[in-house]
Amino acid sequence: MFLQTPFMQHLVIRDKIFVNAKDKYDREMAKLKDIIIRESKMQPTWGEPLPKCFIPLQLEFASLIKRNIPLITIEHLQKINSLQPIRSLTESELKVFLKFQHAIGKVLYFDEHRLDRHVILSPTHLIDAFKSIVTDRRFCQGDTVREELWDVMSKKGVVSKQIIKQIWKKKNYQKFYKDKDYLLDVMTHLDILVEPKRYDSDHNRIPADFYYVASMVRAKDDSGYLQSASFTTRSNAIAFQSSSLMIPPALSFRFISYCLYVWAVKTYGNTNKDMLFHRSGVFTIDPSLDMYIDCEDKRIVVRLVHARSNTLIMRDVASSIYECLASALEKISQLYIRTSSDQSQTSDPSFMTRICCNSPDNPCFLQDSDLDNTDEVWICHAHGIKCNMHTISSWIAEQDEDKCKPGCTVTKDEFLRATPSDLHLRRLSLLYSPFEAKEMAIHLELSKREVEIILETEDIKTASFEILRQCRDSKGVTFKNVKDALQIIGKESIHILCKLVKGQPIDFDMEPEKWDLVPTAEHIDRLAPLVGKNSLPFLIELGMDFNTWEQISHRQNERDLVRLNQDILEEWRYKFCRMHNLKPTLREIARAFSNIGKNIKMVDNTLSDLF
Ligand SMILES: [Zn+2]
Ligand SMILES: [Zn+2]
Repeated sequence: MFLQTPFMQHLVIRDKIFVNAKDKYDREMAKLKDIIIRESKMQPTWGEPLPKCFIPLQLEFASLIKRNIPLITIEHLQKINSLQPIRSLTESELKVFLKFQHAIGKVLYFDEHRLDRHVILSPTHLIDAFKSIVTDRRFCQGDTVREELWDVMSKKGVVSKQIIKQIWKKKNYQKFYKDKDYLLDVMTHLDILVEPKRYDSDHNRIPADFYYVASMVRAKDDSGYLQSASFTTRSNAIAFQSSSLMIPPALSFRFISYCLYVWAVKTYGNTNKDMLFHRSGVFTIDPSLDMYIDCEDKRIVVRLVHARSNTLIMRDVASSIYECLASALEKISQLYIRTSSDQSQTSDPSFMTRICCNSPDNPCFLQDSDLDNTDEVWICHAHGIKCNMHTISSWIAEQDEDKCKPGCTVTKDEFLRATPSDLHLRRLSLLYSPFEAKEMAIHLELSKREVEIILETEDIKTASFEILRQCRDSKGVTFKNVKDALQIIGKESIHILCKLVKGQPIDFDMEPEKWDLVPTAEHIDRLAPLVGKNSLPFLIELGMDFNTWEQISHRQNERDLVRLNQDILEEWRYKFCRMHNLKPTLREIARAFSNIGKNIKMVDNTLSDLF
């Protein structure tokens, strides 16, 4: 079943071993051990030299585990380290050591805020802690607290923080109680538990009293939501089709967990039931828009459902959500395919995107062949549903065109005589590679040597900007010069320039005062997904520079777009505006959205119940 899937390269099918897990002394175990050792020796990293100074600490770890100490604090580790007779590791060597041990799977160490004060020496400790909460019901028999917890979890997918603590206070699980906050933080970090977003009356984040555990929900969707009136004309669907034969259930749980992290679960029906089910769920995007996620065995179907009509679903919203989901899904699936030995290998995308018909049940894919004989309306084969092409393709962002309205300011003389600001140059540098910037700079009379120096010292992301800035500062470049240089390097259209002078007046409608609100944590959480993959241009439009981008994106190395966009908004709100003595308002955020080509109506809709 794994033929022609990325999993195939991780399977070893040579020996047949039958282990009886109930027999402590099963002979086959020894055989299994030998085979694992044999395979290990064939791994590319086998036999690579390691720093000798790591050995004493490795031995210390082994002895701690033997003495039943599976988890230590950093202070404890530092003490052990300082007592080493030959030479103790320096602070930074210690960090390298821990990260290396983590990478090879010997310990768990997370170099992140709140998590970097502990080391789990024996990873099974975390698994045991997790199993004490999430397990099969028959392992809870006779333990009423855990039985109750299990029943609630399988129905609603939630586990109360209070009950976890109650269980861990019991004799069998006391080893977890001491480090309860850390262990729960790790499980949240790994998306095993998801802490729902809760806010106080001032819209600041406050801790919730429970976690979601997507993997435990057994309930099926019998709410009638998909069968509700005029569903086909109120929804749009897209599918992520797996390139391997099936989507592992664990992957769909991670994906649902991701959605739980970003959006609130919808409540529905007479009883206001939480719409969270086995491998599916409904989330609230804004007061009139929901998102239905359904993970099947071979594909994940995502539907946007509007309260009245799918023609009212904004393209800017649909495309941003699609970008966030696609990037999250790619990141999650890479976790399942990547191995430690070939991390640098970039795998092909694991999912293909397909536009679907609007059927609530088993939607058809729009085939390439359908595109040929479809102009405005596509009638799907299986259901005969008439789908408006423009509406169902709203997931894909419109390409912005290289032309603009007549009388555009960039053709006027006053404009062409002006000097570009830093913001103009940042926008310009996003449009060109350092190579193109170099060509332009030479036409702007910067010397080759000067350009080379910048290229050598600057990061690739900031090089274009630095080259252009140097041109402006040392040669007094105007927009006219930029225009001429662009033409010489073969970028004909003068209307490239109007991409640099955005900020046309925005119609902030009849209630201007609401745009003067200072964004709260809740505003930021709602807006972050709407930035989609435009993170860097958005940061620039908020007035921040490439150095800030470097810092934020470095912190967010392994994380997803929504968290990255959240960080950008928070950096701006809490640091940038304070440092520059600006009042952070929703108006500025809306302006930045408008400048990355998104309609501000989108911001208005999303926050409509928070104004
Ligand atoms: Zn259909
Ligand atoms: Zn123009």
